Amino acid sequence: VSADLGARLARTQERINDACRAANRDPSEVTLITVTKFHPASLVRDLYDLGVRDIGENRDQEAYQKAQELSALDIRWHYIGQLQTNKAKNVAQYAHAIHSVDRSRLVHALDRAIDSHPRSRVLEAFVQVNLTDDPNRGGVGEGDLENLAERVLESPHLKLRGVMAVAPLDEHPTAAFARLAELSERVQALAPTAKAMSAGMSHDFAEAIQAGATHLRIGSEITGKRPEPK
Ligand SMILES: *Cc1c(COP(=O)(O)O)cnc(C)c1O
Repeated sequence: VSADLGARLARTQERINDACRAANRDPSEVTLITVTKFHPASLVRDLYDLGVRDIGENRDQEAYQKAQELSALDIRWHYIGQLQTNKAKNVAQYAHAIHSVDRSRLVHALDRAIDSHPRSRVLEAFVQVNLTDDPNRGGVGEGDLENLAERVLESPHLKLRGVMAVAPLDEHPTAAFARLAELSERVQALAPTAKAMSAGMSHDFAEAIQAGATHLRIGSEITGKRPEPK
C-alpha cells in the first residue's frame, strides 16, 4: 500500500470531519464512498487494507470484473453510473446500492434480475435527479421525481434510500445542492425514511455536507489522478 494513498485518504477524512463540524453535523451521519473507476482492482484492495469498505464504480463491465476478482472481501459496491437495462443483471449480483436509478424501466429490469437470482435480496436505491436543463445529463427530470420514487417504493427488491445528483458545471454547488435538498424533502413526503442524499465529489463535498449530504462519492481527491479510461 502506498504511503501516499493512506495520506490522501486520511486527509480527505479530516476535511470531511472539518466540514461536518462547520455544518454542525455528526460525521457518523456521512458515508464516504471511494470512487475507483478506471483504476485497477489492486487499488481497491489497497483501499480495503486501509479500512475502506464502500467503493463506487460507474461502468458496469469494469465494476463486475473488480467485484468478481475481490469477491472474498466484504466490500459494499455502489453503482453510480448510467446503466443500460440489459446490464441490470450484473449490477443486481454484486451491488449493495445503485445511486443512478433514473427511469422506471430500470426499476423493472432490476426487479426481474433480482427475482431470477437464486438468493433474493434487497438492493438499496437512490433516485438520480438531473439538476440541469440538458436532458442528456443523467437523472430523472424534476417533474418526474415523485412518479419514479413511487415506482421504486412499489418494487419488492429495491429499498428507496433517497436522492442522488451531480452538481451542474455552470451553477455554484451551494445553490445546486440547496435545490437537491428541496427535492429530497419532496421524496420524504412520500417515503419518510428515504432521507439519504448522495451528493458531493472531490471538488464540492464540503458544500454537499453543508446542504445535508449523507453519502459522498469521492474519487480523485483520494486516489490521485485517474488513468485514461480503456
Ligand atoms: C467519477 C464520479 C465521482 C467522483 O468524482 P471525483 O471528482 O473524482 O471525486 C462521483 N460521482 C460520479 C457519478 C462519478 O461518475
